[in-house]
Order: sequence, then structure tokens, then C-alpha cells
Amino acid sequence: MKLLKVFEGISDRLRENGWFIDKPESPSWWGGALSPEEVIISAILVQQTRWERVTEAVVKLRRSGLNTLRALAELNPVDLANMLTGINFRFTKANRLVEIAKNIVSIGGLEALSKLSDDDVRGMLLSMDGVGHETADSIMLFALNRLTLPISMYTIRVINRISGVLYGDYEEWRIRLMSLLPKALYEYKLFHAGVVTTGKEWCLKGKPRCSECPLHNQCRLARLNAGKG
Ligand code: SF4
Repeated sequence: MKLLKVFEGISDRLRENGWFIDKPESPSWWGGALSPEEVIISAILVQQTRWERVTEAVVKLRRSGLNTLRALAELNPVDLANMLTGINFRFTKANRLVEIAKNIVSIGGLEALSKLSDDDVRGMLLSMDGVGHETADSIMLFALNRLTLPISMYTIRVINRISGVLYGDYEEWRIRLMSLLPKALYEYKLFHAGVVTTGKEWCLKGKPRCSECPLHNQCRLARLNAGKG
């Protein structure tokens, strides 16, 4: 897939947006996380919050020894919320994080989770408050190294503009795009990092900045607009 080559070529921009190209199984793809547990923690904190704030919060938790699910499971949610300054909806997220940590710890932690089938892991994640499809697939791919693709609003916008396709629901987008990618963690992670970065930096909702976009040569909408000019 040509897009993957383009995304590899903009690794600096990916990094500025919180995506660190690394070995396929490394958790650091996800904002430089040092462990799968930090990926889970930041996947909950990042909803409606800027990456920089999430990074600061994770560093604070790390320094306090609270960057593990076992530590979070024993924490009072109010005490956790008080550490999450800068995170939007921090009291709600603190409650959710403590509950998610308790749930995973209660089945034996990430080690036990890693032995479950993809369907069972997804089902368990989706049953937790605050975990929707995109967050569940992000945790599965970036924390648990399962071959699944998160579908974000950026994915839909960028792929629709590039190719003209418009699939139906979340699951159809996930299955169709997965069928187009090589079945490998590195490619899945790079694809997600690339489309999210493109959607945030260039493929803006109202006014796409096509002339600066690295996908310009691959993009159907850019060609159509150029033809009109
Ligand atoms: S070229 Fe324009 S429309 Fe196409 S992906 Fe880039 S910003 Fe979006």
C-alpha cells in the first residue's frame, strides 16, 4: 500500500502527533508509552483531551509508581482525579480507570487477558464503562498487539477523500480496511498513526490543506479539485 510508504516518510510529523515508529511489538508507538499498561491508561485519558496533557499525566503517574493496573485498582478515584490536572472530565475518567484496572486485575491482569481470544478480549473491553469501539481496538492493537484496526473519525474522512469509498458502520470500515493492509502489526500501527496525523494536520474537516498534504499525489479529492482549478 502506497500510503504506508508515505507515512514512513513523515515519521517526524507522526512523532509530533504522539506516534513513535518503533519495533512492531513495542508499546512506545502509542505516545512513547513504556508499557502496555501505560497504553491502556492513556487511551482512557486521551478522550477529548490533548496528547500533551495526557503525556504529562502519565509521567506524573509513572513517577508516583501508579502507572500499573494493580496500583490503580487499589486507588481511591478521587485521589487519582486530583493527580489528573489538565485532563478533561478527570473525575469521570478516574472512576473509569480504577474500574477498568479492577476488572482486568480481577481476571489475572494483562497476562490472563492476553490468553483470551480476540472476540473475548474485545467483548470484555467493550463491556467496560468509557470503552467504545475505537478505544477497544486501540488497546487491542497498541497494548495487546492484536491484529485489529481502530477506526477514528480521521480514518473515515481521510480514506473517503482519498479514494471516494464510504462504507457503512464501524465494523464494516474495520473489516474492509483490514482486508487492504498486510496482516502485520507494524503496518496496522503505521496506518493508524498516519491517517490520524493526516486528519489532524492537513485533512481538516472544513478546509483540507491539500497543497501541503503528503498524500496529495494519492488523493482523489485533490485531483478533482485540481481539475476544477
Ligand atoms: S490531499 Fe487533501 S483531501 Fe486528500 S488527504 Fe490530503 S488534505 Fe485530505
